[in-house]
Amino acid sequence: MNTIAQIHADIETRVTAIRDGHPDWLCRQGCDGCCRRLAEVPRLTAEEWDWLQEGLAALSPERLLELGQTIAALAGKPSRPIVCPLLDQAESACLIYAHRPIACRTYGFYVQRDLGLYCHDIESCVDAGALADVVWGNHDVIDRRLSALGESRELHEWFAQWQFAPRFRHHAFGWKSDTPLHRIKEALNEIMHITKNKPKKVDDQS
Ligand code: SF4
Repeated sequence: MNTIAQIHADIETRVTAIRDGHPDWLCRQGCDGCCRRLAEVPRLTAEEWDWLQEGLAALSPERLLELGQTIAALAGKPSRPIVCPLLDQAESACLIYAHRPIACRTYGFYVQRDLGLYCHDIESCVDAGALADVVWGNHDVIDRRLSALGESRELHEWFAQWQFAPRFRHHAFGWKSDTPLHRIKEALNEIMHITKNKPKKVDDQS
């Protein structure tokens, strides 16, 4: 079965097996190295985004507003390395940890052909021969399973779409009356009226 829940469960099994054999594993609460050094803007499938939205929905409106600005800035070709906008930098903690994307779950536990292990700290341990007994997860398999779920988009694209829709719901984002909606409807009616009554363009050649 290839659902997002099943992928999460399979990753969790691999991660737990590695942790059980190495209780002092480097990836743990308090280490935010990978969150501060993203090579690319996070990309998510629709199912990962659905999952992540549940985490966003639990944040305060103030936090969401702030987050919206940081995420929107990702659209403008940010300089690398990128600090993940979902990282609470003061707390060194992920704001949506239980709902984080797949790449964040596999980081430090999976290996990818041509890209290796990602985490330089763990790579150093491997180079020193300290982790010879570890059975790493195969990220190429995870990528194939994600591709089978459908297209992926960058985080700011999903977020912009998600933010836009609620703005036009009744009482959304602090709107206390129907007035803004009425104004939009009036403006649209006016545009349609003008377009309808505008004289048709005359072809000069006829
Ligand atoms: S989503 Fe969370 S875990 Fe993933 S990179 Fe961002 S802050 Fe880190």
